[in-house]
Amino acid sequence: MSIGTPFSHCPRCWEHYDVCKCTESEIKEHEEDIKKMKETDKTFTIKCTMKDRWVPHFLAMLKYMAYLGRIGSSRQVTLYSDGDGDFHPKFEWDESLPADAKPIIDRGGDRTYDAG
Ligand SMILES: [Zn+2]
Repeated sequence: MSIGTPFSHCPRCWEHYDVCKCTESEIKEHEEDIKKMKETDKTFTIKCTMKDRWVPHFLAMLKYMAYLGRIGSSRQVTLYSDGDGDFHPKFEWDESLPADAKPIIDRGGDRTYDAG
């Protein structure tokens, strides 16, 4: 369903509008929730466990994302996740956090999430 937004995917279910089954009222209600979320900062804790040698790479990615936000610049940030090597991170967080967003691109497992 398309209700005239400039996006190609539904902001509620994250499916492309061609396959989205959300009603117009569900999408509008969700868009109101998104507007409220855009105005509210949320601080939360993620517990990370990974090999010591990967910590600098992971922190560099987080710091770069924060830097881009500070300077108001848009870039793609990529972390190569070598799961058949020894990059086996474990993350724990509060399950009451919002549900995961779906990637806007998934090419054979290479995923892009849109934080813009
Ligand atoms: Zn939808």
